[in-house]
Amino acid sequence: MNNQFITYLQNRFHFFNNTYFEIEDGWFEIIKDMALELNDVVDKNFKIFEIKQKYGSMRITTFSDYNKQAEDICNKYEIKSQDICEFCGIYGEQKTCNNWVYCICSHCENKIRRL
Ligand SMILES: [Zn+2]
Repeated sequence: MNNQFITYLQNRFHFFNNTYFEIEDGWFEIIKDMALELNDVVDKNFKIFEIKQKYGSMRITTFSDYNKQAEDICNKYEIKSQDICEFCGIYGEQKTCNNWVYCICSHCENKIRRL
């Protein structure tokens, strides 16, 4: 994810301070929505360690005491990401391109296949 997006998130939500983002820009909007929901249920010890992409789905690793509400919110957005192109944020679906599974729209798929 680009640095501008990462800085935006880190300036607004303490739990992104040391997060390792290994995803494309298209999921920025759902990450922002998720952060707003998390903000209401977590304390200052809650941290997001990593957000990455696996098999076309967002995977979130957190560091905190057990917090069922936070866990449910993360799960909900991991499922949401499975319908959103990770490159541009419009509707996408799971597809294999260049031996890697992405959640991707047909426009971005065509771009990637040409690389
Ligand atoms: Zn796309």
